[in-house]
Amino acid sequence: MGSSLHDEECDYLFKTVLIGDSAVGKSNLLSRFAKDEFHLDSKPTIGVEFAYRNIKIGDKIVKAQIWDTAGQERFRAITSSYYRGALGAMLVYDITRRGTFENVKKWLHELREYGNRDMVIVLVGNKSDLVDSREVDAEDGRSLAQLEDLCFMETSAKENLNVEDAFLQMITKIFEIVSQKNL
Ligand code: GDP
Repeated sequence: MGSSLHDEECDYLFKTVLIGDSAVGKSNLLSRFAKDEFHLDSKPTIGVEFAYRNIKIGDKIVKAQIWDTAGQERFRAITSSYYRGALGAMLVYDITRRGTFENVKKWLHELREYGNRDMVIVLVGNKSDLVDSREVDAEDGRSLAQLEDLCFMETSAKENLNVEDAFLQMITKIFEIVSQKNL
């Protein structure tokens, strides 16, 4: 018996989605979390992409399946099937582009229209390494998250700051909700 984790060996499978404006860093956050790599160039391809990572919570093995828009958001072509069955969402903006923060409300609206009602949503302000070009204060992100009842974190996919924490926060929260329901 090997120790590798196959599908049938996990206790839970959670679908989660990445959402937010184009070029905020979604695919780099995902590859950081899934493979610990950072890509300097974006490769906007069409069609959904996703990655898996197994996480141990207590004595349970959770397989997180994380979907990426793979560039479709720039055509506003994300369909309801993207959100279907998702238990968590990471809503990303770029702290150096105010407009991407202003669009958070639009993405929230879409998530709430198509998504699961008790979906765990983590608001993420990415590119925190670019201190000199900051256009959104951390306090703005935090207040919005408080107002909308979301978790909040600033990250840098480039410098691998808080990336692991942001994903783990989302997955752990989903785990708490799901295991509560199964009691
Ligand atoms: P997506 O369209 O939201 O998936 O964004 P990408 O992951 O393709 O990233 C868009 C661009 O931002 C790329 O050129 C990345 O190299 C860059 N980028 C992503 N995350 C960071 C970050 O944390 N810091 C910096 N400085 N650049 C980043």
